Amino acid sequence: MTGALECIFCKIVAGQIGCLKLLDDEQSLAFLDIGPLAEGHVLLIPKRHFETLAEMSGELVGRVCDHLPRLSAAVTRVARADGCNILQNNGGVAGQVVPHVHFHIIPRRSGDGLGYRWPAGEYAPGRADEIHGQLEQALKDLA
Ligand code: 5GP
Ligand code: ZN
Repeated sequence: MTGALECIFCKIVAGQIGCLKLLDDEQSLAFLDIGPLAEGHVLLIPKRHFETLAEMSGELVGRVCDHLPRLSAAVTRVARADGCNILQNNGGVAGQVVPHVHFHIIPRRSGDGLGYRWPAGEYAPGRADEIHGQLEQALKDLA
Protein backbone atom coordinates (compact mmCIF):
# COMPACT_ATOMS: atom_id res chain seq x y z
CA MET A 1 0.00 0.00 0.00
CA THR A 2 1.25 3.50 -0.81
CA GLY A 3 1.47 5.44 2.41
CA ALA A 4 2.68 8.65 3.94
CA LEU A 5 5.20 7.99 6.69
CA GLU A 6 3.64 10.15 9.35
CA CYS A 7 0.00 9.71 8.37
CA ILE A 8 -2.12 8.38 11.19
CA PHE A 9 -4.63 6.72 8.87
CA CYS A 10 -1.85 5.03 6.88
CA LYS A 11 -0.61 3.69 10.21
CA ILE A 12 -4.10 2.36 10.93
CA VAL A 13 -4.17 0.71 7.48
CA ALA A 14 -0.74 -0.82 8.18
CA GLY A 15 -1.92 -2.13 11.55
CA GLN A 16 0.60 0.01 13.46
CA ILE A 17 -2.25 1.80 15.24
CA GLY A 18 -5.31 -0.09 16.35
CA CYS A 19 -8.87 0.73 15.42
CA LEU A 20 -12.35 -0.70 15.86
CA LYS A 21 -12.70 -1.99 12.32
CA LEU A 22 -16.05 -2.31 10.57
CA LEU A 23 -15.22 -2.96 6.91
CA ASP A 24 -11.99 -4.04 5.31
CA ASP A 25 -11.60 -4.77 1.61
CA GLU A 26 -8.83 -4.34 -0.95
CA GLN A 27 -9.41 -0.61 -1.39
CA SER A 28 -11.21 0.60 1.71
CA LEU A 29 -11.37 0.54 5.46
CA ALA A 30 -14.09 1.72 7.83
CA PHE A 31 -13.71 2.10 11.58
CA LEU A 32 -15.09 3.99 14.56
CA ASP A 33 -13.95 7.59 14.91
CA ILE A 34 -11.92 7.90 18.11
CA GLY A 35 -13.41 11.32 18.84
CA PRO A 36 -17.07 10.86 17.91
CA LEU A 37 -19.42 13.78 17.33
CA ALA A 38 -22.08 11.25 18.36
CA GLU A 39 -21.96 7.60 19.37
CA GLY A 40 -21.58 5.50 16.23
CA HIS A 41 -19.62 8.14 14.26
CA VAL A 42 -17.71 6.13 11.63
CA LEU A 43 -14.88 6.94 9.23
CA LEU A 44 -14.52 5.39 5.77
CA ILE A 45 -11.14 5.76 4.03
CA PRO A 46 -9.31 4.58 0.93
CA LYS A 47 -6.39 2.40 2.00
CA ARG A 48 -4.03 4.28 -0.31
CA HIS A 49 -2.88 7.66 0.84
CA PHE A 50 -4.48 10.62 -0.91
CA GLU A 51 -4.61 13.96 0.79
CA THR A 52 -7.75 15.25 -0.89
CA LEU A 53 -10.60 13.83 -2.93
CA ALA A 54 -9.48 15.62 -6.12
CA GLU A 55 -6.31 13.47 -6.16
CA MET A 56 -8.33 10.25 -6.45
CA SER A 57 -9.67 8.61 -9.58
CA GLY A 58 -13.41 8.53 -9.96
CA GLU A 59 -13.24 4.75 -10.13
CA LEU A 60 -11.53 4.45 -6.76
CA VAL A 61 -13.87 6.98 -5.17
CA GLY A 62 -16.71 4.85 -6.53
CA ARG A 63 -15.31 1.69 -5.00
CA VAL A 64 -14.79 3.26 -1.60
CA CYS A 65 -18.15 5.05 -1.62
CA ASP A 66 -19.92 1.86 -2.62
CA HIS A 67 -19.90 1.12 1.13
CA LEU A 68 -21.70 4.32 2.09
CA PRO A 69 -25.34 3.22 1.74
CA ARG A 70 -24.87 0.17 3.98
CA LEU A 71 -22.61 1.98 6.43
CA SER A 72 -24.99 4.90 6.76
CA ALA A 73 -27.92 2.53 7.30
CA ALA A 74 -26.00 0.60 9.99
CA VAL A 75 -24.83 3.77 11.75
CA THR A 76 -28.32 5.25 11.72
CA ARG A 77 -29.86 2.02 13.01
CA VAL A 78 -27.35 1.40 15.81
CA ALA A 79 -27.33 5.02 16.97
CA ARG A 80 -31.15 5.01 16.85
CA ALA A 81 -30.70 8.18 14.85
CA ASP A 82 -33.22 10.11 12.81
CA GLY A 83 -30.72 10.64 9.99
CA CYS A 84 -27.03 11.06 9.32
CA ASN A 85 -24.53 13.39 7.68
CA ILE A 86 -21.84 12.22 5.27
CA LEU A 87 -19.04 14.74 5.60
CA GLN A 88 -15.79 14.88 3.66
CA ASN A 89 -13.42 17.75 4.37
CA ASN A 90 -10.71 18.82 1.90
CA GLY A 91 -7.98 21.11 3.20
CA GLY A 92 -7.42 22.75 6.55
CA VAL A 93 -9.64 25.67 5.62
CA ALA A 94 -12.48 23.16 5.18
CA GLY A 95 -11.84 21.59 8.58
CA GLN A 96 -9.60 18.71 7.47
CA VAL A 97 -7.25 17.75 10.28
CA VAL A 98 -6.02 14.33 9.11
CA PRO A 99 -4.54 14.75 5.60
CA HIS A 100 -5.73 11.38 4.31
CA VAL A 101 -9.10 11.31 2.51
CA HIS A 102 -11.92 10.19 4.77
CA PHE A 103 -15.69 10.24 4.83
CA HIS A 104 -17.41 10.87 8.14
CA ILE A 105 -20.69 9.08 8.75
CA ILE A 106 -22.28 10.99 11.59
CA PRO A 107 -25.57 9.93 13.15
CA ARG A 108 -28.01 12.78 13.73
CA ARG A 109 -30.91 13.08 16.13
CA SER A 110 -33.24 16.01 16.45
CA GLY A 111 -32.02 18.39 19.13
CA ASP A 112 -28.47 16.94 19.15
CA GLY A 113 -27.01 20.43 18.90
CA LEU A 114 -24.71 19.53 16.02
CA GLY A 115 -24.64 21.72 12.97
CA TYR A 116 -22.59 24.17 11.01
CA ARG A 117 -22.93 27.70 9.82
CA TRP A 118 -24.65 27.86 6.44
CA PRO A 119 -24.83 31.54 5.58
CA ALA A 120 -26.47 31.20 2.18
CA GLY A 121 -25.81 34.17 -0.08
CA GLU A 122 -27.15 35.26 -3.44
CA TYR A 123 -25.60 36.04 -6.81
CA ALA A 124 -25.40 39.57 -8.15
CA PRO A 125 -27.17 39.90 -11.52
CA GLY A 126 -25.21 37.99 -14.22
CA ARG A 127 -22.72 36.50 -11.78
CA ALA A 128 -24.30 33.01 -11.66
CA ASP A 129 -23.97 32.80 -15.46
CA GLU A 130 -20.29 33.80 -15.24
CA ILE A 131 -19.56 31.20 -12.57
CA HIS A 132 -21.54 28.59 -14.48
CA GLY A 133 -19.45 29.25 -17.61
CA GLN A 134 -16.18 29.06 -15.67
CA LEU A 135 -17.22 25.79 -14.06
CA GLU A 136 -18.20 24.29 -17.42
CA GLN A 137 -14.78 25.26 -18.80
CA ALA A 138 -12.96 23.87 -15.75
CA LEU A 139 -14.82 20.57 -16.10
CA LYS A 140 -13.74 20.36 -19.75
CA ASP A 141 -10.11 21.18 -18.84
CA LEU A 142 -10.09 18.52 -16.13
CA ALA A 143 -11.72 15.79 -18.23
P1 5GP B 1 -11.09 15.69 9.91
O1 5GP B 1 -11.20 16.85 10.85
O2 5GP B 1 -9.70 15.57 9.34
O3 5GP B 1 -12.16 15.68 8.87
O4 5GP B 1 -11.38 14.40 10.80
C1 5GP B 1 -10.40 13.58 11.34
C2 5GP B 1 -11.09 12.58 12.25
O5 5GP B 1 -10.20 11.55 12.55
C3 5GP B 1 -11.55 13.19 13.58
O6 5GP B 1 -12.97 13.03 13.70
C4 5GP B 1 -10.79 12.40 14.62
O7 5GP B 1 -11.55 12.12 15.78
C5 5GP B 1 -10.42 11.14 13.87
N1 5GP B 1 -9.17 10.53 14.33
C6 5GP B 1 -7.99 11.16 14.48
N2 5GP B 1 -7.06 10.29 14.90
C7 5GP B 1 -7.66 9.09 14.99
C8 5GP B 1 -7.19 7.79 15.39
O8 5GP B 1 -6.04 7.57 15.73
N3 5GP B 1 -8.11 6.78 15.36
C9 5GP B 1 -9.41 6.98 14.98
N4 5GP B 1 -10.22 5.91 15.00
N5 5GP B 1 -9.87 8.19 14.61
C10 5GP B 1 -9.01 9.23 14.62
ZN1 ZN C 1 -2.36 8.31 4.81
